[in-house]
Amino acid sequence: SDSITVAELAEQLQVSSTEIIKKLMSLGIMATLNQSLDVETVELVALEFDVTVEVKSEEEEKVDELDFDDKPEDLKPRSPVVTVLGHVDHGKTTLLDSIRNTKVTTGEAGGITQHIGAYQVRANENKITFIDTPGHAAFTAMRARGAQVTDIAILVVAADDGVMPQTVEAINHVKAAGVPIIVAVNKIDRPTANVDKIKQEMANYNLVPEEWGGDTVFAEVSALKGEGIDNLLEMIVLVSEMQELKANPNALASGTVIESKLDKGRGPVATVLIRRGTLHVGDSIASGTAYGKVRAMINDKGKNIKKAKPSTPVEILGLSEAPQAGESFRVMENDKTARNLAQQKLNKDKNELMQNNSAVSLDDLFKSI
Ligand code: GDP
Ligand code: MG
Repeated sequence: SDSITVAELAEQLQVSSTEIIKKLMSLGIMATLNQSLDVETVELVALEFDVTVEVKSEEEEKVDELDFDDKPEDLKPRSPVVTVLGHVDHGKTTLLDSIRNTKVTTGEAGGITQHIGAYQVRANENKITFIDTPGHAAFTAMRARGAQVTDIAILVVAADDGVMPQTVEAINHVKAAGVPIIVAVNKIDRPTANVDKIKQEMANYNLVPEEWGGDTVFAEVSALKGEGIDNLLEMIVLVSEMQELKANPNALASGTVIESKLDKGRGPVATVLIRRGTLHVGDSIASGTAYGKVRAMINDKGKNIKKAKPSTPVEILGLSEAPQAGESFRVMENDKTARNLAQQKLNKDKNELMQNNSAVSLDDLFKSI
């Protein structure tokens, strides 16, 4: 809104109206309780209480409104987005490759899946989207930017090893995010594999298998041999059905950047995951300080496509620069509003730099969530 009264400001700052009125007097402004204050005055008074006021532009206000637009009847089922986490060498990359390869050869006609940072596979009637960057670094980087992209986390634990430091870290991050965990006990082909020992150790972290009276799904796999993959996919579908994941496909698209790069031939390339709406070639988008018209869209099978729905990962071309992973993106009404939103982000970044507020590490950010 454009203005705020003295009483409202007092409530926002959690101080008494009298204190506000006193501060105003010290600034040479005589005010009453229901008097409206302009933006500059509010900023001045707030500063006296060590609070920085964030003034939202017209574009930003619109963006906020977009988030609350959906009526229940506009929501349609969408596929789950899955991240694979676990200790180094426990088999995350092998598992992601194995899932992609099994499904591409048996399901999809035509081919080689290109690496665009995420891919979708079919499990019977259902689709599942996998984020192709394993490890909790990607997971926390996105969370630190406020992006909750994951619906289900697959925690890979090697059956011939056990719960390791990064396993515990992953458990903590995922629990903090409130995301359901499926434990994939990997390397069951190894002679020294001991699945019961893994279950015992996981139970110590409150991940108790269903057959022991808990509610955590365990799937035994050999990522290397491709064993147990179909079962794991079925488990993912089961867990996701309980979540009743939905999104409105009939809206201006918005979502999260999974990966981005500056390609010599193609310019800035971003892999995005659509969370809401349908993204079309020709849409005007803004993502952080990047903006532009979507010139082309390429799916995980390497095909050029014209539109993409929620939970679909796509590579997009046409942005002014490569946005950061974890940054959100939005389709705006036109080129001008998209550019304005990006420009405002740039100004905000500059301001923060000047106020020296930007010296925050990822870890600090994560702690504050
Ligand atoms: P990441 O660090 O978690 O991504 O682990 P990788 O996928 O790179 O796997 C680490 C090592 O374990 C590699 O040498 C893999 O070939 C091996 N590996 C992964 N999965 C299996 C499995 O199911 N069985 C066996 N025997 N080896 C595996
Ligand atoms: Mg790896």
